[in-house]
Amino acid sequence: MICNTFKRLSLNTWDKISQSRSVNFQLKEETFTDLNMLDIKRNHPLKVRTKVFTKQEEGQNGADWEWWFRNTKNQWIGFRIQAKIINNLSEEFEHLHYQSKTKVFQCDKLLQKALTKRTPKVPLYCFYIQTNNKKLLTKWTCGTFPPTLDLWGCSLTSAFVVKKLRTKFNNNLSHLEPYLKPWHCLVCCTGYGGDDPIENISNYVEANFEMDTVAAGELGLTIPETFITTNPPQYVLNILENENNDNIFTDDEDLRGVLIYTFDDEEAK
Ligand SMILES: [Zn+2]
Repeated sequence: MICNTFKRLSLNTWDKISQSRSVNFQLKEETFTDLNMLDIKRNHPLKVRTKVFTKQEEGQNGADWEWWFRNTKNQWIGFRIQAKIINNLSEEFEHLHYQSKTKVFQCDKLLQKALTKRTPKVPLYCFYIQTNNKKLLTKWTCGTFPPTLDLWGCSLTSAFVVKKLRTKFNNNLSHLEPYLKPWHCLVCCTGYGGDDPIENISNYVEANFEMDTVAAGELGLTIPETFITTNPPQYVLNILENENNDNIFTDDEDLRGVLIYTFDDEEAK
C-alpha cells in the first residue's frame, strides 16, 4: 500500500537525519527526494511512472517535483512540490525564502507554476525533519494512526504558509511547526470524506492546506474550485504512456521530475 510506503519513508528520513546529526554531516534535500521517489517506484513498480528531467540551469537553488495521482476513472489530482531539509545545527530550513537573481521569490514562482489556469496543482512544501527538541512536534495532527514522532520525518505545508512566514523571514522548525502535516496523511487518511482515493486526497487538501485567495490575487493567480481534473498536462499523459520515451520535454526549467501514481480499483473502494 502506498500508505505504508509513505509512512516508512517518513521514519527512514527521520532516522537518516538523526544519523547525519550525530556525526555532523549535513544532508541535502535533493538526496532525500531522489531516494524517496526511487523507493516509491521500487515498491509500486506497476502503479508508478516517473520522469526526471535533466537540470537545465547550473546553480539553481532546488527544483520542483510534480506528483500526480489518478484513479481508473481518469480523475487526477496534481501537486507542485518544493522540498527543504532541516539544518542540523540551526534547525532552520535554509533558503526557504530564497530569492533569485531577478528578485523573484522561489515560493512565488512555485505558486505561479502550480496555479496555472488550465491545470492547477496544489502548491506544497515538503520538509525533511528530525529534531531532538522535545518541546517541538508535540501536537499530533493525524486522526488515523497513534502519535509517532518519527512520522514527522516527511511533512507537508501549503506554499501560502511559507509566503506568509516570509514577512518576518521566519524559517525555523519552531515557526513552521504549527502548520506541518505528516505526509502519510495525504495518501492514508480518509477522515475527510470521499468515495475514492482521489476524492479523499482532494478533501484532505481542502481541510489541511491553506489557500490564500488574497495572496494569490496579488500574484495574479486564482485558487480553483477543485484541484481534481480529467485533463492533466500533455507531458504527464506522455509519461504515463511511456516513461522511457526520451522525447518528452518540458520548457519548465524549474521542474526536476514527475511522479505519477495510479490507484487501482481495489484501493478505490
Ligand atoms: Zn492522518
